[in-house]
Amino acid sequence: MNTKAVIYDVIIAGGGFVGGTLALALAKLTPPGFRVALVDAAPRAQGGQRDARGLALSAATKALLEAVELWPAVAANAEPIRAIEITDSPLNASLRPHLLGFDEEMKAGDPGAYLVEAGDLHRAVQDAVGAEPAIDLFSPASVDDFEVDGFSVRAHLAGGQTLQGRLLVAADGKRSKLRERAGIKSIGWSYPQVGIVAAVAHEHPHHGKAVQHFLPAGPFAILPLTGNRSSIVWTEETAKGQPLMAAPESEFTAELTRRFGHRLGAITLAAPPQSFPLAFQMARSFVADRLALVGDAAHAVHPLAGQGLNIGMRDVAALTETIVDMQRLGLDIGAGTTLERYQRWRRFDSAFSATVMDGLNRLFSNDSAPLRAIRDLGLGLVDRAPGLKRFLVREAAGQTGYVPRLLKGEGL
Ligand SMILES: Cc1cc2nc3c(=O)[nH]c(=O)nc-3n(C[C@H](O)[C@H](O)[C@H](O)COP(=O)(O)OP(=O)(O)OC[C@H]3O[C@@H](n4cnc5c(N)ncnc54)[C@H](O)[C@@H]3O)c2cc1C
Repeated sequence: MNTKAVIYDVIIAGGGFVGGTLALALAKLTPPGFRVALVDAAPRAQGGQRDARGLALSAATKALLEAVELWPAVAANAEPIRAIEITDSPLNASLRPHLLGFDEEMKAGDPGAYLVEAGDLHRAVQDAVGAEPAIDLFSPASVDDFEVDGFSVRAHLAGGQTLQGRLLVAADGKRSKLRERAGIKSIGWSYPQVGIVAAVAHEHPHHGKAVQHFLPAGPFAILPLTGNRSSIVWTEETAKGQPLMAAPESEFTAELTRRFGHRLGAITLAAPPQSFPLAFQMARSFVADRLALVGDAAHAVHPLAGQGLNIGMRDVAALTETIVDMQRLGLDIGAGTTLERYQRWRRFDSAFSATVMDGLNRLFSNDSAPLRAIRDLGLGLVDRAPGLKRFLVREAAGQTGYVPRLLKGEGL
C-alpha cells in the first residue's frame, strides 16, 4: 500500500507538562484537520514517573487547563491555597511571627493558586494526550536534529524516522538539545543550592495555609496538599543537601522537623524525598527559523515562588493564540512574522519574572544584618497596606496585564 507521508502543522519535541499541554491546546482549539506530532523521550510510565514535587498552579494556569479540558482530571487532587504566611525568624526562635501575611485578601474571590502533585498532573496530561485523535504520539522517541527549508521543517528522530511539519516547538526542558542545535545561546548560572522536595503527613489540618520561611541557606516552603498532608520545597546549600539526602530517614525527619515546626503536630514522610539541582537560565532568543522554544527550554527559574511551570504555561497560551490567529488569516504558522509576535509577547515577561525570582533569592538567602533590616522593614510596610496586598494577590494569580486570552478564561 502506498501511504502518503503526513505533513504536520506542528511537531513538538518534549511531552512534559508544557509540551503535553501545548499539544492538547493546539489539537482542541484549532479547526479540524490540524495535525500535531508529539515526540517525548521519556517512556510512557505506568502510573507516571516518580516525581515528588508539589506544583503550585496559578489561577491563570487553571484557566488554561480548563480550556483544554484537563482541569476536571486535575481538580480531584488539587488543594486551593487559602492563606500565605511569610517569615524569616531564626530556626531556634520560640515564636515565628510573620513578616507578611495574606489572609483576608485571599478570601475574596476564587483561590489564586492550587497545589497539585507532579505525578497526578503527569498522568492527567498523558491520559488526555493518548485520547486525542489529532495528536500522533511518538514515545519513547527523541528529536536528535532538524533542518529547515523555505516552507517546512524536518525533525530527525533518534531511530532514523523523519517527521515533516510547518513549525517545530522545543519543549525539551532545561538542557534543550534543539536550542543548542539551533545555535541559540543562553545566559545562566547554577545556584549553590539544591531544592529538596517531599510530601509530609501531619496530625492537624493545614486549613489551606502556605508558609514561606526565608532561612539563610534559602527558602523553606510548606504548601498544602489534599488531606492532612503538605508538600515541602526545602532550599539548602548543595554541600549540606547531599549528606542530608543520604542520611537515615530518622535523621532527615529530625532536620525537617526543626524547619517545619510543631504547628501541625507530629510529622512523617509520606514518600521518600527527592532533590533537584537549581539553576537560572534564559535563552537569548525564543525563536529561530521555524522553531519556537517554550517552557524550561526557554527559561528556567528559581522555584522559590513556584512560578517555573506557570511561566511555561503562559508560553503555551501565547503560542496557541498566535498560531490560531495566523491560521485564521491564512498565514504561514511557521513564518518569521508569526514567531516574532510570539517572541515579543513572551521574552520580556519571562526575563522579568526570572530576574525577580533571582533577586528575591539573593535578598533573602543570606544572614546579613543590614539586608535583613531593610527587607523586614519593606515587608512590614507591605503587610500594613491592604490595597497593595490585594494587588500582589492578583499579580500572583497571573491574570493581570497583557495576558493571553486562554489565561483569562476567554475563548479564542
Ligand atoms: C524543586 C522544584 C519545584 C518546583 N515547583 C514549581 C511550582 O510549584 N510551580 C511551578 O509553576 N513550577 C515549579 N517548578 C518548575 C517546573 O517544575 C518546571 O518549570 C516545569 O517542570 C518545566 O516543564 P517543561 O515541560 O518545560 O520541561 P520538563 O518537565 O523538563 O519536560 C521536558 C520533556 O522533554 C523530553 N525531552 C527531552 N529531550 C527531548 C528530545 N530531544 N526529544 C523529545 N523529548 C525530549 C523529556 O523526556 C521531558 O518529558 C519547580 C521546579 C523545581 C526544580
